[in-house]
Amino acid sequence: MKNKFRMLQQKIIQLSHGETWETAVKEWSPDQITYAENHCLCTQVIWENCAIRNDANGNRAIVGNECIKRFLGVDFEPVFRGIRRVRSDVAASFGDAAIAHAAEKRWLDDWEQTFYWDTMRKRVLSDRQLRSRIAINEKILAKFTEPTPQPTHVEDTPFDWPFRRTANMKPTRTPWRR
Ligand SMILES: [Zn+2]
Repeated sequence: MKNKFRMLQQKIIQLSHGETWETAVKEWSPDQITYAENHCLCTQVIWENCAIRNDANGNRAIVGNECIKRFLGVDFEPVFRGIRRVRSDVAASFGDAAIAHAAEKRWLDDWEQTFYWDTMRKRVLSDRQLRSRIAINEKILAKFTEPTPQPTHVEDTPFDWPFRRTANMKPTRTPWRR
């Protein structure tokens, strides 16, 4: 919904160094994908979380898959599709996107990666291969269900657009640090 996304834009600007949407957007990058009940900055209730981080000031926020697509132009839907599949069947394959994500995050060692790519599309696995796949799946699922980074608190502001951040709108810093 249009107004909801504007709410997200206002909050992002408040959490950013830049004072306009165009400058604020450039400060943010995806940080972590997690699975837990949360609210997107647009107020939508979400289970599939994209934690994002502001590279200029260290602020953090949580947005949903739809909003991050629109906001940062990255699509995590194929990753979430893999998570959904393995959550309903631990012997299923995570698929390319989720495994690439896991590899990028260095959750898998070389052997695990090679094994997973080699057996990704096999319909029938030996008992031993199946045990390996399940062990790797459980390892990755545990990573995706790690706690979501604590978002930086930002006040709800009355709806007003175009929105510019003003000096008295400093967000309160959270003690959480990585
Ligand atoms: Zn949203």
